[in-house]
Amino acid sequence: MTDPSGTVPDPLRRPRGPGVSTPSVVVVGGGFAGVHTARTLERLLPPGAADLTLVSATDHLCYSPLLPEVAAGRLDPRRIAVPLRARLRRTRVLQATVETVDFDRRTLTFAAGGCPLEPLRWDRLALTTGSVTRVLPTPGVETYGLGLKALVEAQYVHDHVLRQMELADATSDQGERRARLTFVVVGAGYTGTETAAQLQHMTTSQLDRFPRLSPGDVRWVLVDLAPRVLPELGPRLGRAAMRVIRSRGMDVRLGTTVAEITHDGVLFSDGTRLATRTVLWTVGVTPPALVARLGLPVARGRLVVDEQLRLRDGVWAAGDTAAARDPYSDAGRDYPPTAQHAQRQGVTIGRNIAADLGHGSPRPYRRRDLGLVADLGGAAAVARPLGLPLTGLTAKVVTKGYHLYALPAAANRLRVAADWAVNLVSRPIAAQLGLVDPTAARLPREQGALSVTR
Ligand SMILES: Cc1cc2nc3c(=O)[nH]c(=O)nc-3n(C[C@H](O)[C@H](O)[C@H](O)COP(=O)(O)OP(=O)(O)OC[C@H]3O[C@@H](n4cnc5c(N)ncnc54)[C@H](O)[C@@H]3O)c2cc1C
Repeated sequence: MTDPSGTVPDPLRRPRGPGVSTPSVVVVGGGFAGVHTARTLERLLPPGAADLTLVSATDHLCYSPLLPEVAAGRLDPRRIAVPLRARLRRTRVLQATVETVDFDRRTLTFAAGGCPLEPLRWDRLALTTGSVTRVLPTPGVETYGLGLKALVEAQYVHDHVLRQMELADATSDQGERRARLTFVVVGAGYTGTETAAQLQHMTTSQLDRFPRLSPGDVRWVLVDLAPRVLPELGPRLGRAAMRVIRSRGMDVRLGTTVAEITHDGVLFSDGTRLATRTVLWTVGVTPPALVARLGLPVARGRLVVDEQLRLRDGVWAAGDTAAARDPYSDAGRDYPPTAQHAQRQGVTIGRNIAADLGHGSPRPYRRRDLGLVADLGGAAAVARPLGLPLTGLTAKVVTKGYHLYALPAAANRLRVAADWAVNLVSRPIAAQLGLVDPTAARLPREQGALSVTR
């Protein structure tokens, strides 16, 4: 059926007027994509045009690019937690975990504090559930691997590494001491490389407070199956980063992976073993289990969306959860799972949902990569802003400046800048707070589908 103007009426667009309810827009996930979706809707929709709700498992956006600094004790965890309620004015914020989405009935079910709540109705839905650490079927990884994808994990890693130094100091068994001071990081992408570099810097700079330990006792090992570190930043910067970390004594093992992790060590794919109590697992990300449960087409676990980031009628997805083709990629790749794309995709789906409700017109998502930065601790960094390769102090300044610019709240920016300024004149406070329940820092057991069914 067409209206007099010849257009097909959208069954989702409800008529407005007395007795007609306001459309409900629900955003699932309060990360980069979700917050920018909700903020764009707040900006584009006149008051009363829609009921806006954001459901997120956490009450804050975690600025994950600075997680390695939290793990290294250079930033207090709250510095990079941006409260959702401070960023959103007209959106109802619900701290809860979405468990199922019913596309026919247009409802979703969710639970808060383990208790199921009344199903929530939606007319337009934005899925921005981000990603979780990818867990491979390597024996022992779920039991002994430590992730670095959330604040609790970063805080746990910080405490754990300091604890190993204390335990190494306390023992007189040389083998035990060596194992406690051997730290293995699996995955040499930006998460693994930055974390290994920054934590190695932390352990080295704390050594003078442990007179019984010597620099030769501490060993950091970075392992990856790939032939180089930091592949996201290209071969030249990968080599520059490698020079920095190797000059500090990092044992970098490329073309190698971990075949098994046990309570007292790791077995590498080349057959060698190493006694250790610490394995940081940073081999990539995959969408959370909810995404696999939706039963929709996925590519490498991510929901396949069209160029307007639409998943199906009335439903959009953005950020790490969504697989959108990058029109600028010669190899026909999807956009990489990065904060810069999640944030800009959030704006796009906010705009497209508003357009679907009759405010503005929809747009495709076509954005070029702005580049990446990697802080290697101390005075070292590598960066590729807008394709320009930088190393040394210039890269360091660009890296710090980029994070201050990209942090989505002035209050957080100010505090991060203050911490960095203090770090220049005083060593970060190294203390285990023991606030994290070890089970909360475990790698996710339930994973999304990894199959390619585009
Ligand atoms: C250590 C580290 C360093 C990084 N460095 C960089 C960098 O330098 N530059 C860069 O561009 N990117 C970087 N990234 C990647 C970047 O952080 C992610 O791409 C970005 O966070 C993705 O944003 P998102 O909104 O898709 O997901 P997220 O920011 O992860 O947000 C997802 C949200 O969804 C919520 N959620 C998930 N499932 C549910 C559910 N079922 N119910 C309710 N809520 C749910 C989560 O709690 C979370 O709030 C880094 C990541 C890490 C881990």
